[in-house]
Amino acid sequence: MKYFKRAQTKKIRIGSVTIGGGNPILVQSMINTDKADWRAAVRQIKELENVGCEIVRMSVPDMQTAQNISKIKKQINIPLVADIHFDYKLAIESIKQGIDKLRINPGNIGDKQKVLAVVKEAKSHNVPIRIGVNAGSLKAVGGLKDDLLKAKELARAAMEHVKILESCNFEDIVVSLKASDVKTTILAYEIFAQKRNYPLHLGITEAGSIFSGTIKSAAGLGIMLDKGLGDTLRVSLTADPVEEVKAGFCLLQALQLRNSGLEIISCPTCSRCQVDLIKIVAEVEREVAKIKAIRNSKKKIKAALMGCAVNGPGEAKDADFGIAGGKGEGLLFIKGQVIKKVKEKDWVKTIRNLIVTTIAKEK
Ligand code: SF4
Repeated sequence: MKYFKRAQTKKIRIGSVTIGGGNPILVQSMINTDKADWRAAVRQIKELENVGCEIVRMSVPDMQTAQNISKIKKQINIPLVADIHFDYKLAIESIKQGIDKLRINPGNIGDKQKVLAVVKEAKSHNVPIRIGVNAGSLKAVGGLKDDLLKAKELARAAMEHVKILESCNFEDIVVSLKASDVKTTILAYEIFAQKRNYPLHLGITEAGSIFSGTIKSAAGLGIMLDKGLGDTLRVSLTADPVEEVKAGFCLLQALQLRNSGLEIISCPTCSRCQVDLIKIVAEVEREVAKIKAIRNSKKKIKAALMGCAVNGPGEAKDADFGIAGGKGEGLLFIKGQVIKKVKEKDWVKTIRNLIVTTIAKEK
């Protein structure tokens, strides 16, 4: 039995990927480089690709940035989304430059003729539009105290934009309804999902720092994913966007919504631990981040790094491979079998090599 019953949303193509209709939930992020520096944008998108980012968004606040899109597109491999506010000409230029998706709220771009002009261009280039309502920019939400009323207002605003596009016979729509508090966000997505089956991009906006933002996002997105909502997600963090992507994948893996890639099981350590496990796990994470093949692997690899023999062998046995610590060394297990003792200084190298070998066998 599947634990998560995904909502049946409409399939939408975004460049080389398809979301909705039961397709895997994709991890997004957004670049934060200087808008004038398209080479910096490419560099950051490459960094995001290296950690597995599947869709990337950039702000397009002026015409020069829009005109840089084709240069950026030529050098990257994942779909690019243009985030535009108010100016429909920027949307049209972005589409002409080869953007894969727009994030723009049609109710904010002026009269119907302007909306029709964007829709015409989007249709002829098969470019979907994400309507993204945000509690922070909705005046009506600001004055409300009750979470449900705020959520209803967010959903109402999203529907208003949706109806504008639908009235132009445009249904290549993705929707997000973000607030910075978890309850309002969850309620808003739930209310909207009862009205339309457009794919949903999930996020808790302005979630905070790498630590508190990850926890807040995991709480909010986890609940929504449990309800079957969500086709793409972003863990918004006041941090390097690379961290957003890593957090997004960890979340999906924890909920078994992505059964590929590497999962590291490691204990919290206690006074029984006689190896520097905290340092070892951090080093393993740094080393495996460099193994690009993990991101293309269809296999789930589970590696255990445990501090001692109390829970260590049990967890290590349950994983594909693992090491259970002793005094300055550990016992290496592969598929439940004890293989040999490994000195503490060799743990990182041993785990890294086993990951590389496991991926190589897949081919
Ligand atoms: S595995 Fe051992 S070292 Fe790690 S927390 Fe459990 S008892 Fe402590």
